[in-house]
Formats: sequence, structure tokens, C-alpha cells
Amino acid sequence: MELAAIREHGLLRQLRRIDSPQSPRITFDGRRYLNFSSNDYLGLAGHPSVCDAATRAVANYGAGSGSARLICGSLAPHHQLEETLAAFKGTEAALTFSSGYATALGTIGALVGRGDVIIIDRLVHASVVDAARLCGAKLRVFVHNDMTQLEKILRWADTRRSSPSRTPAARRPRILVVTESVFSMDGDCAPLRNIVELKDRYGAWLMLDEAHATGFFGSHRRGLADRDGVSGQIDVQMGTLGKALGASGGYICGSQVLIDLLIHRARSFVFSTAPIPAAAAAADAAIKLVMNDFGKVQSERLWAHVRRFTASAAARFPARSPAPSSPILPIPIGAERAATDAAARLSDRGIYAPAIRYPTVPRGEARLRFTLTAAHTEAEVSHAVDVLAEICRPLETDQ
Ligand SMILES: *Cc1c(COP(=O)(O)O)cnc(C)c1O
Repeated sequence: MELAAIREHGLLRQLRRIDSPQSPRITFDGRRYLNFSSNDYLGLAGHPSVCDAATRAVANYGAGSGSARLICGSLAPHHQLEETLAAFKGTEAALTFSSGYATALGTIGALVGRGDVIIIDRLVHASVVDAARLCGAKLRVFVHNDMTQLEKILRWADTRRSSPSRTPAARRPRILVVTESVFSMDGDCAPLRNIVELKDRYGAWLMLDEAHATGFFGSHRRGLADRDGVSGQIDVQMGTLGKALGASGGYICGSQVLIDLLIHRARSFVFSTAPIPAAAAAADAAIKLVMNDFGKVQSERLWAHVRRFTASAAARFPARSPAPSSPILPIPIGAERAATDAAARLSDRGIYAPAIRYPTVPRGEARLRFTLTAAHTEAEVSHAVDVLAEICRPLETDQ
């Protein structure tokens, strides 16, 4: 049986029932744990203003949205959120979806299809991979962050586009490059400036998934494109409302033309009930916090934690210490079993950080994945490194 095989390979997974709100301190199985696995990077999921906004939306607009946005579900909180998002990201317009996953699926399918080319980094999130497979365009994958290979594929796609066999009446084939700003399992960043230069040179569109960067990269905290000064050159800016923005849902920011096209063509938008008004209102409140001093203070605190963790790890277990590129800090272990053993030892010490294994990452590249948030204390961050040092030391001598 399929499940038996999964168990045999040490890949069985379980849902953990958490009996406390989302926070750096969580309770499950009747025990408290320090949580280093949340994407609630700024501690907004439980922020009083965000919770109040959700409660008020329930009082004013009810629990449900009643229908898809294009029928009668386009409630005021959704419009408000989209105005706030466009202002936050500095784009003409924005559109929200029920999740980041639905955003990728609907958007990619609306932009490219049969006859077009979609080019993705090998390590992009499953939502983009699934969307790329479904959309009908020719799919090409480049080695993670490898600009030479990306250029080779772009050149091929461009040549194919100008091939004389095409009928003159046909629409000019599109080329869409999709990558992530911070890669969700490795925590490293895409070389955005180089990618922007290449996509401009070959007349391709660029879609950037800012799931793990929105809220704490760049001087406006808009994401990696903000930090790298290329926001104006990203054709399709994607993100989720469920990570640093503390709520749930996904978004696209871009030109009015892009958003108008998505309203008509993104199937996960057109054929799905609008998100609940509470989710939209919570995200709206969270973005407003990110845009003001609270966001500045919390993101500085988050980056200080990242520097503290990585500097201390580099001093104490250099062979496995992560780079300070983002709050996603993978500790490489290797074998699947060794990684689950290490996670179990962390858990014995009251620390929850998951072992990330195949199929999320390639076989034999299992790791512990720590994510830091601004809601952690300095003492909690230091404690995590202390415990990790104990776990990593015997692994180093094994090698
Ligand atoms: C989490 C994530 C998504 C999906 O967003 P959801 O809102 O959770 O559906 C998409 N892309 C990346 C890179 C992610 O990490």
C-alpha cells in the first residue's frame, strides 16, 4: 500500500493539533513549546488591531461572503484591502484571492497558455510548479538562481517566438519568467537585478512571488524588489496575506490592465467564493501597521534576531550555520532519519522546528528549518542556538 511505503521511508507526516493561538509560544499534547516554525514574521496574526479589525468586519459584514466576487461577494472590505495593497506596493492596482496558492494558479493560467513559454526556477514553490504544469504553455526550468541557464532558455524562447512557421494572424507568443524573492526552504534570495535585466533584454514578463519577503524587506517593507530598487520593473507582483501579513489570502499587484485581465481570466478568482470579510479586514489592518512605525520597529527587530542567530551559529557550529539572508534559517542535516531524530531531540527540549524532508526538498537534503519572528525575545533566539549547538556537535564528529 502507498501509505505503508511512505511509512517505510520514514516520510509519514502527522497533523499536530495546536491548542493555543499562533505565537512564538504554542501548546500541543498538553505541553508548551517555543515555536520556530511560523511564518508570522512580524507577530501580526495575534496583534490586537488586526484581531479587532476582523471582529468588526464580522459585526458589519457577517461571517461569509455569499458568492464569488463577480456575482455579489465583492464586499467593501475586499475593495478597501485592494486599495491599501496598491498603496503599500506602489502599484496602480491590486487583486486578492482566497490563498497564495489560488493566486499562482489563477494568475499564471490567465497570462500564458498553449503556444507561450513559462520559465521557472527549479526551487519555486509548489503552487507555481502546479500552475506552470496546468497552464498549457511550454515549461522550462532553470537551475536555482543560475543566470547563465536562464539566459540560454530566454534566448531559445525568443528565437522560437520569431520563427517564420507561425501564422501572421496568431498572437505574439508570450514568455513569462516566474521566481521567488526568498526561497521558502533555503531562505536565500533571487538575484533580482540580473533577472530584471535579462527579462527586459528578451522581452519577457517577470512574475515575482514575494511570499517570504513582503513586510520586512526594503525601506517601504514591500519586499525584495523594494530592497533591490526594481519594484517598477516587476510586471506581476505576487504575495500572500497569510505570512508576515498575519491573515490569509493571496494578492497580485501591478498595472490596471493586468488586474482587469485577471478579473476576467483568473479561474481561481472567477469561480471561487470571495474570502470571508474578516480575512480581508485583518489583512488590511496588518498592512497599515506594516506601513507605519510599528512595521519599521518590528522589521528591525526581526533582522536583529537574524543577525544574532546566524553570528552565534557561525561561531558554534560553522559547518551547519545558515546565511543571514532572511528569517528562514535552514540547518542542513542530510539523511531523512537523522533530521527527524534531530527534530525529536529539539522537541524533547521544548523547541518546535520541523524536519523538512523529501518531497519538500530533494532526497538526502533533509534539514531543520528555523524561522524567526519579531515576536520572539532575544533570550529565546539565544536559547535556540544553544540547544542547536548541542545537537549539531555530535553530528560534526560523525563526519
Ligand atoms: C506559502 C507560499 C505560497 C502559498 O501561499 P498561501 O497563502 O499559503 O496559499 C506561495 N508561494 C510561496 C513561496 C509560499 O511560501
